[in-house]
Amino acid sequence: MSSKIVVQKYGGTSVGDTTKIKNVAKRIKRYHDEGQKVAVVVSAMGHTTDELVDLADQISKNPPKREMDMLLSTGEQVSIALLAIALNELGVPAQSFTGSQLKILTDGNFSNGKIEMIDRSRIDEAFNKGKVVIVAGFQGIDKDENIVTLGRGGSDTSAVALAAALGADECEIYTDVDGVYTADPRKIPTAKMHKQITYEEMLELASLGAGVLHSRSVELGMNYNVVIHVRSSFHDKPGTLVMSEDKIMEKMKVSGVTAKGDQARVTIADVKDKPGIAADLFTQLSNKDVIVDVIVQSSPRDGINTISFTIAKKDITAAKPIIEAYAKEHGNGKAEIDENISIVSAVGVGMKSHVGVAAKMFQSLAEKNINIEMISTSEIKISCVIKQNQAEDAVKALHTTFIG
Ligand code: ADP
Ligand code: ASP
Ligand code: MG
Repeated sequence: MSSKIVVQKYGGTSVGDTTKIKNVAKRIKRYHDEGQKVAVVVSAMGHTTDELVDLADQISKNPPKREMDMLLSTGEQVSIALLAIALNELGVPAQSFTGSQLKILTDGNFSNGKIEMIDRSRIDEAFNKGKVVIVAGFQGIDKDENIVTLGRGGSDTSAVALAAALGADECEIYTDVDGVYTADPRKIPTAKMHKQITYEEMLELASLGAGVLHSRSVELGMNYNVVIHVRSSFHDKPGTLVMSEDKIMEKMKVSGVTAKGDQARVTIADVKDKPGIAADLFTQLSNKDVIVDVIVQSSPRDGINTISFTIAKKDITAAKPIIEAYAKEHGNGKAEIDENISIVSAVGVGMKSHVGVAAKMFQSLAEKNINIEMISTSEIKISCVIKQNQAEDAVKALHTTFIG
């Protein structure tokens, strides 16, 4: 008998205490009782991961990455065991698995690993015995079996990767909001929930600060054609389907507004204008896994120009020696790092066919006296770098302008 495979993921708040874990178990039981094969990915309980980060921070400001991953992966081991216990208590056979038990193989990049392969044999074995399979999110291993985590929020990615590996056409992401909104509903009470949104838009939103999905999970959904259903773990109403553009009828001009904090802007002035000069800098940064976001290079004047770009604050330590050496060799010797910035963005596939979105965005910010320090665009998004303390006002203003 071939029954449907259901893949579900429950986030930290949804398994925040034992009462919530028991409720999650009841929901899973319903699917199991219908005869479906259920694979469940679980995050660590509540703020466990933050608390673990804090513990390490009390001991070292520069802990070995391998040991951080060893530490952070423990949160999920607690929640999978408790959920399996709760299911067994309800009479549902269930078995929990760590990333290493399922041989979730990653590229070995500690704290930001990319899943390369999942071995489904133990999952199938458990399914064949009628068991619910509970998988620790956010973790995998490298080829030497070291534990590797997938980046904060990475359980979403574990779930979508699992859905792809099991050939499921949908992955349910249960969380503490009803779906994907036009802005963070906790900050913008008038935000509206989408019934559907394209992978493209969701990928931009997730990368630009909408924390509701880990951006790599959206990438995987897009590549393996897995519909991602973001929905509430507190009720049964349907949430938001993240899916391909050709299946979506209504295309909004702007489908979301985001702000991304924790960013810093680097400026290197008086750089000699000659070929290869930017390539050299950005190659060195990428070799240290520093992700560069908005980049602006001024047009040259008298053979020199200014290069500015944004990086995540957490990467400053890795980037600083490279930037300082570069400024000494090619610039005026000083590299300026401004940690007081935020990137606000408007995203929408409708931008492809509507003109004037950028003009409206700049106007809306100008009316609030918000100065735009850098701009970057793609076919479906416009981002502006502004002062961090104006980010909240900026998101409110942009949401009012584009969505209401
Ligand atoms: P989980 O623990 O379930 O993974 P997260 O905290 O990672 O939950 O993600 C859910 C949170 O994402 C919500 O509580 C909400 O505040 C935030 N969020 C930010 N932007 C959006 C958005 N556009 N739509 C929905 N939620 C959003
Ligand atoms: N527990 C991890 C975190 O807090 C992974 C996740 O929740 O998705 O980042
Ligand atoms: Mg999350």
